[in-house]
Amino acid sequence: MPRHSEPHSPPVVHRTARAGLRLTRGQRRRLVGLLVSAGDVWACVLEVNAWRRARQDAPLAGYPALCRELAASGPGCFGELDSAGARSVLRRYSDAWFAGAARRKNGDTSARFPRRRRKMMPVRWYHDTFALDGRRLRIPVARGCSPLRVRLDRDLPYSPGSVRSVTLLYDAGRLWVDVTAEVPVAAYPPGAEPVPGRVAGVDLGIIHPYAVAGPDGQALLVSGRAVRAEHHLHLADTKARGRAVARRAPKPGRRGSRRWRQYRRRQRIVEARHRRRVRQAQHEAARAVIGWALERRIGTLVVGDPRGVLDLAAGRRHNQRTRNWRVGHLIAVLRDKAQQAGIVLTLVDERGTSSTCPACRARVPKPHGRVFCCPRCGLSGHRDLIAAANIAARASGGITPTIPVGVTHRRAGNHLPGASRARRDPRRRPHHGDARGSPGRHLPAPPAAMAGRGVARPTARTS
Ligand SMILES: [Zn+2]
Repeated sequence: MPRHSEPHSPPVVHRTARAGLRLTRGQRRRLVGLLVSAGDVWACVLEVNAWRRARQDAPLAGYPALCRELAASGPGCFGELDSAGARSVLRRYSDAWFAGAARRKNGDTSARFPRRRRKMMPVRWYHDTFALDGRRLRIPVARGCSPLRVRLDRDLPYSPGSVRSVTLLYDAGRLWVDVTAEVPVAAYPPGAEPVPGRVAGVDLGIIHPYAVAGPDGQALLVSGRAVRAEHHLHLADTKARGRAVARRAPKPGRRGSRRWRQYRRRQRIVEARHRRRVRQAQHEAARAVIGWALERRIGTLVVGDPRGVLDLAAGRRHNQRTRNWRVGHLIAVLRDKAQQAGIVLTLVDERGTSSTCPACRARVPKPHGRVFCCPRCGLSGHRDLIAAANIAARASGGITPTIPVGVTHRRAGNHLPGASRARRDPRRRPHHGDARGSPGRHLPAPPAAMAGRGVARPTARTS
């Protein structure tokens, strides 16, 4: 819901950050109660509309009409949930209903109206209904209930005055708060702002999430090998766990055992952590691209969009690879960060960019390795950077792709376990000996006299 802004005010963008909560058991119970009450509001609207359909009345979908219905139900119907929080559920229903209606009107017969009940629904509160002071958040509750103050588990990157809304939600066994703020578009001192005429091409890939070719032979390669390893380990882990518990899986139509439910819960937690890790790595990679572009005053990023070919079936292994790639998210995070930095981002079709020679325009079969070599003119270079240069040329015809003068290397996902020796991934099978990345053979436990004196040293073993 966009807010009206003053004319001639500086441009702003809306950004959301997620924070966890530090809660007592009682606070957690009350917050879950709010989410369940919001689920009740949602179920009520579905119920009302089911009755109306049965009576062949027009559905109730407009936000004001739904609010009137809520007001008619009177206070006290939805536990501790206040009317502002309940209205945010109505707003969500109304938006979903009209989005579905618009898609059906455009001929998409698979679009459905909201119809599914949820035990919990996210609740959003807009400006002036909550109070956020540092990490302390006061959540509004219905009149007569004791005030609800909670603590966030981290500082938010936004100034207190710029926060527009907070959303309480439940994901994989944890409660979270999404804080949305109005962030001004970056302003630069004269002579440092990005120049729209300076264009860089961005090639999206799996091994290199972003390969960027800019003017003056400058290039950036962001390596995604840590992210790929994370996907690989996660898949192996999921398969192994699935095999281990397959015996306990309920038969069709039977209710699962308590141990089975524990396993399902654990699986959801692990999935959520995996998603968070990949998302974080992709955000960091996009940030590296924007920082690199700003240093070189690049004002336009041209991104090759590969999504046209992703729907083709390519075998289960490759399908899994392209699904893990999450290219839509890669484009979205880069677009968001570019917008905030005042850089223009345009999408072009990337078809054929990694199989065309940038110098003589000859079609070269896509190389299997990373090295591109043209048999006609002899040009060779990094395959992803050649593709990026072709993408840049496709948008503006501006830069002449040459062999890069300076290539900057960055890694996405330095926080991932297994990215370095110090952060070995516990999911990896422990391997001993002097293999690369191995911490080596375990030393014997220190003798009792040495315990409490820190790390046992190898010299202690020789005596
Ligand atoms: Zn050539």
